[in-house]
Amino acid sequence: MTKDTGTTSEYRTGAYYAEQKAGIVRVMIDMYCKKNHRSDIKSCKECRELFEYARSKTYACRQEPGMFCSACPTPCYDQVMRERMRTVMRYSGPRMLYRHPILYFRRLKLRLLRKK
Ligand SMILES: [Zn+2]
Repeated sequence: MTKDTGTTSEYRTGAYYAEQKAGIVRVMIDMYCKKNHRSDIKSCKECRELFEYARSKTYACRQEPGMFCSACPTPCYDQVMRERMRTVMRYSGPRMLYRHPILYFRRLKLRLLRKK
């Protein structure tokens, strides 16, 4: 986290959400990779690539803060990446509750926030 005094609070809110989302996505990709690609400590090259892609999209996102990619009306992932991400989410989504309950609920909270 960097200290940035020259930005508006609105921007900071967006970056805050982006950071949270990126963190959650990272955990989910790692979880998927560990089990399905049998990588030990770090995610495999393919999954790192997926994460970097997801992160850059998250930070570039112009949707309201808290918007999740899965619920986005204007998805910006390309076909291949979207499919890969969907596979990861399908695997890791339900498992988040048991392995990372705090992150799971944080993700849920972000989702609920945008439904208000
Ligand atoms: Zn992998």
